[in-house]
Amino acid sequence: MPAREIDFASAEGISWSTAIAFGVFHVLAVVALFFTTWDAVLVALALHWVCVGWGIGLGYHRLHTHRSYKTPRVVEYFFALCATMTLQGGPIFWTALHRIHHQKSDRDGDPHTPRDGKWWSHMLWTIFGEALHGDTENLGKYSPDLMKDPFYRVLTRWHWVPLVVLGLGLLAIGGLPWLLWGVFLRVVVGLHCTWMINSVTHIWGRRRFHTRDDSKNSFWVALVTFGEGWHNNHHAYPTSARHGMTWREVDLSWMQIKLMSWVGLAWDIQVPTTAQIANKEITAEQDIVGAVIDPDGPVLRAPAQ
Ligand SMILES: [Zn+2]
Ligand SMILES: [Zn+2]
Repeated sequence: MPAREIDFASAEGISWSTAIAFGVFHVLAVVALFFTTWDAVLVALALHWVCVGWGIGLGYHRLHTHRSYKTPRVVEYFFALCATMTLQGGPIFWTALHRIHHQKSDRDGDPHTPRDGKWWSHMLWTIFGEALHGDTENLGKYSPDLMKDPFYRVLTRWHWVPLVVLGLGLLAIGGLPWLLWGVFLRVVVGLHCTWMINSVTHIWGRRRFHTRDDSKNSFWVALVTFGEGWHNNHHAYPTSARHGMTWREVDLSWMQIKLMSWVGLAWDIQVPTTAQIANKEITAEQDIVGAVIDPDGPVLRAPAQ
């Protein structure tokens, strides 16, 4: 498949603010290595868990986009706030882009398919992708549920503010090492971990279910993304809160959703039954996804109950 042509000579299609921000973050991520302290590393690890694990995995992806479980509104807001601190954009932008990805997976219109080039799917789409330049109103058509909520509209408009506040807090408490590790290095690592879902798990790995896209399962991507690497399972069952379908498929986000349900913080949790999974595995040679996703209207999020 030929790589998507990018007109490097033309500045028209470039999102300069994104390009400059990502450039600065990558440089300062390297600078962070010269300011390494053990407490700074621990702060970065904890924030990776909170921002990528809770924010992106439990929040933006499994909750805001796919509505695979329910939780109190305040928890929803908290997860969205954590997610903005990954520099992956506001909730309306993120969910809209991801719903488009599921609708058009590896076909025309997919914002980040490796069929348009490996590096395109990994990070170039964020800088050159047309979708990024779309305004909130336009993207909101894909996320009408979030558009109704003023909190999500404001958070999408000012998505970078929580990260700035966090950075100032870290600087005040732990000085330069905490700022460099807790914001710059941690954000860059988090971005590449998340981007690997779009690139690596649409190129390399094992396919357990026959889906209409190129999605794969990857153990090591699942490890660094708290379970998001079981991407072929996820494309087969987009509304499932559980991505690792067996005990061997370690899915830390699923474990945390179970934990939340035990203390009353998660309910109406969507999971395919064992029979459904077994049935699909047996008939893996067939286009089994057709049974889950209606070509005219993919079931991307759980029905409201
Ligand atoms: Zn995908
Ligand atoms: Zn998804």
